Amino acid sequence: FELPKLPYAYDGLEPHIDARTMEIHHSKHHNGYTNNLNNAISGTDMEGKTIEDICATPGLSGAVRNNGGGFYNHSLFWSVMSPNGGGTPSGALADAINDTFGSFDSFKDTFANAAKTQFGSGWAWLCVHKGGKLDVCGTPNQDNPLMPGVGCGGTPILGIDVWEHAYYLNYQNRRPDYVEAFFNVINWD
Ligand code: MN
Repeated sequence: FELPKLPYAYDGLEPHIDARTMEIHHSKHHNGYTNNLNNAISGTDMEGKTIEDICATPGLSGAVRNNGGGFYNHSLFWSVMSPNGGGTPSGALADAINDTFGSFDSFKDTFANAAKTQFGSGWAWLCVHKGGKLDVCGTPNQDNPLMPGVGCGGTPILGIDVWEHAYYLNYQNRRPDYVEAFFNVINWD
């Protein structure tokens, strides 16, 4: 696996997410998960599998679980943010959010609450189930809902990293402020 290039500059998400945090998060943390995943699967039957298939492996444990999740989660995370993000979704996604949560504001409360209340390090997710139903859940560590029995079990289409390394330089202990700022950079397209 290769560390994906960011689709924008490290300072592209300022002032909502600062350049220093983005640089360390991408070039150190995500790069570390990538290298550690490659080392952990080297010479095993995991080599050649997709990251989705690796995450979906029953009984995944240790370095493959932690770094496989870390590789997948951050790859999705960069892609769901944009310097031109924010606002509200449109089209089929807007319809699905309204059908499931009643309104965008209700969805935002549900998602933000999952992010704020995930104890310790982890993630909050918006997932889609087969048939199109949406779901929000949280997961600890670098787990994600592709892993059997974890979270809501859907396919993640939006995720927020709530590890302290994702926000502490700029927001310190104020995770709720970071979660609120994240909504200004969500790439709904
Ligand atoms: Mn992270």
